[in-house]
Amino acid sequence: MMGFAALSGDAAERVLAAQLRSADEVALLRQAMNVFGLIFLWQVFGPHGDAVRLALWSVGLVAAMLAGVLLDRRRRAAAAVTVADLRIHGFAGLLHGLVWACCMMLLSLDHGAAQLVAYWTLISCIMVCGAISYAATPLAAAGFLAPCIAGLTFMFDEPDELPLLALATSYALSLLVGCFIYARTFARQHSASVQLEEKSEVVSLLLREYEHGASDWLWQTDPARRLNGVSPRMAEMLGRSPAAVEGVPLVQLLAGSAWDSGLFPAELHALAGHLKQRESFSAIVLPVEVPDGVRWWELSASPRYDEAGAFLGFRGVGSDITQQRESADRIAQLARFDPLTGLPNRAHLHEVLDQSMAMARGGAAGCAFLMIDLDRFKGINDTLGHQVGDMLLTQVARRLRHIFSDSEFCGRIGGDEFAVVIPQVAANRGIDTLAAAIISGLSAPYQVDEHLLYVGASVGSALSPQDGKEAEALIRSADLALYRAKSEGGGLHCAYEPQLHARAEERRQLELALRDALEKDQLHVLFQPVVEAEEGRVVGFEALARWTHPDMGPIPPAKFVPVAEEARLIGPIGEWVLRTACMEAVRWPAPVRIAVNVSAEQLTHPSFVSAVVSALAQSGLEAGRLELEVTESAFINADTGALKVLDQLRALGIQLSLDDFGTGYSSLGYLSRTRFDTIKIDRSFVVGAANRKPESLAIIRAVVTLAESLGMATTAEGVETEVELAMVRELGCRKVQGYYFGRPMPAAEAAALFPADQVRARA
Ligand code: C2E
Ligand code: MG
Ligand code: MG
Repeated sequence: MMGFAALSGDAAERVLAAQLRSADEVALLRQAMNVFGLIFLWQVFGPHGDAVRLALWSVGLVAAMLAGVLLDRRRRAAAAVTVADLRIHGFAGLLHGLVWACCMMLLSLDHGAAQLVAYWTLISCIMVCGAISYAATPLAAAGFLAPCIAGLTFMFDEPDELPLLALATSYALSLLVGCFIYARTFARQHSASVQLEEKSEVVSLLLREYEHGASDWLWQTDPARRLNGVSPRMAEMLGRSPAAVEGVPLVQLLAGSAWDSGLFPAELHALAGHLKQRESFSAIVLPVEVPDGVRWWELSASPRYDEAGAFLGFRGVGSDITQQRESADRIAQLARFDPLTGLPNRAHLHEVLDQSMAMARGGAAGCAFLMIDLDRFKGINDTLGHQVGDMLLTQVARRLRHIFSDSEFCGRIGGDEFAVVIPQVAANRGIDTLAAAIISGLSAPYQVDEHLLYVGASVGSALSPQDGKEAEALIRSADLALYRAKSEGGGLHCAYEPQLHARAEERRQLELALRDALEKDQLHVLFQPVVEAEEGRVVGFEALARWTHPDMGPIPPAKFVPVAEEARLIGPIGEWVLRTACMEAVRWPAPVRIAVNVSAEQLTHPSFVSAVVSALAQSGLEAGRLELEVTESAFINADTGALKVLDQLRALGIQLSLDDFGTGYSSLGYLSRTRFDTIKIDRSFVVGAANRKPESLAIIRAVVTLAESLGMATTAEGVETEVELAMVRELGCRKVQGYYFGRPMPAAEAAALFPADQVRARA
């Protein structure tokens, strides 16, 4: 402020410039006062003979004035102000003060009281003007007033003038103090305004950046919620000029054409509420009409208040999020629909099911959930490739769309599984009828490229609330019903029954236990003799797996084999049975054979043939003494490669037999495609024939004739009585198996059926 400390920073420099500028503004007043003083002195003292002194002094004053003007001009011409300028200005002030001090020293006041008053008035005017003109620059003020105060002692040099001197001195000193106080206030004010200016420059720079760079804009309203200070960016987003929207109530602007009807979107109601309550709000998304159509805006704002707490309106930001919203909609579409078939996906179906169930809970009729699974789809996908599989699924979806009405909601839940939500069962056709329509609709042949494909469908259904009060429970029930439909051979509809749940739970427990049955040595193999029909000679044994669980006791294969098949455990179990059976059979006299059951799942496993070869090699059993029994289910998916595997096995010299003939999907077609060595006739026909049932008799006769003509043997299974034996013999079956000749027995008992010298010792 005084110019003694070095300047630091742009702000200090700007305050210094302001000080000097303020001094410049009143420089004229100073010069005018000097001229006035000069004239006045000549008027008062000139006629009294002080002319020489006065002339000398006048020269000094003019010289000081000129020096001041020159110094000021030089400073103004410089590019920037420095502390030195303030000091030079102070020096000019000192020069000025010295000239007037000289005046007080040179001109004596012995010309009477009137002159004294005039002289003192002039001097005090000069001091006041000087103080005013140097007020912003305290160094110059001090430079000017200090010599003046010294000059006063010459002016009032008589002893009786001492009180006057004291008065005049304190007057001059108070002027000096006043100058300091003003200078300090001036410097503070200027430095505050410089800082404020800097801040607002930064803010406007940031805002400019913000509006240019982003798709966002700032907006504000007045206390009456009308837009004010509309930015060009906001106006551009509205497709109008800033002037056209200035002063328009914000809600009216956002409502667009809905303003007249009052039918606002809920978000606009919320926004209007916040404005009314003077509450901050953030990220309110709402549609806004612009000339090009509808855009989606996101608005956030806070109320503004002045220092006295008066409400000034709102200020906030807006952004156009139309693009994000559109891509979010697209993502939502992808997230809710299956891209292949265009049908609703699992998540979407679940949502609809949740809603339907909530409605059903409200008292309306119950809702139903149907699960559909394609039969034999996997075979097509595996053999003809995924592309054909995908085209087939698209056709399936198209057929499903035709089957369902608008109120029935059909979707794809993955793979070859589809599902349907029927929100109100009572208002719809019966579930049975619908399921039948699905099965027959989907079972008609499909033309995909050059392939004519046949797939069937199985349906499981569950009804809410009785089969499940929550969506998850209902889906599980329908799934269990579907599982049952599939396990009963497919192509049918099963409705959920509570026992299914218990069965599923039991199956789960069994699966868990079966997983470590092999390791814990809970499995063993029994051997049931197969005899030659005429003489009753043992020609072979069938190996039958047994499982004895420590807690659950013996579990029959009819129960655990399907579980093992489904849990993909049949591979290791079957291989273990095969190895154990071969190790046992090698001890029996040749050509006694061992028959081992093989599941369809095992046949499709790529390492099955090598496992058989390894079992034969390890045990040393001849391939011709091993017989593998497969059921007709192995041929359901005739394309899965099972036939190729059977051919490979036959080529190794292994015997093949077709088990449980007549119980499955009897098709004599397999018999011509793969050569079996034996056909095993199921016990149900044996029992039927013994009871003289004509169909059973006819079937056995036909099978025996066909087998004979193709060079195959027949085995009658499950012969328990003399009568049954007599009947099968009469019908021409070559081999017989059943309790009549022997139940499945441990290996030792089986070996005991042969003379001891023919049985080899255990390796
Ligand atoms: P399967 O291959 O048809 O086996 C014959 C079944 O009939 C055996 O039942 C046998 O104990 C039973 N049986 C034999 N003679 C008579 C009789 O005179 N009267 C009656 N009522 N039944 C008789 P088991 O041992 O319960 O086996 C059932 C099925 O389990 C077998 O049918 C076979 O398909 C499957 N299985 C058994 N062991 C294995 C195995 O190691 N692997 C595979 N994949 N399946 C096996
Ligand atoms: Mg069998
Ligand atoms: Mg059988």
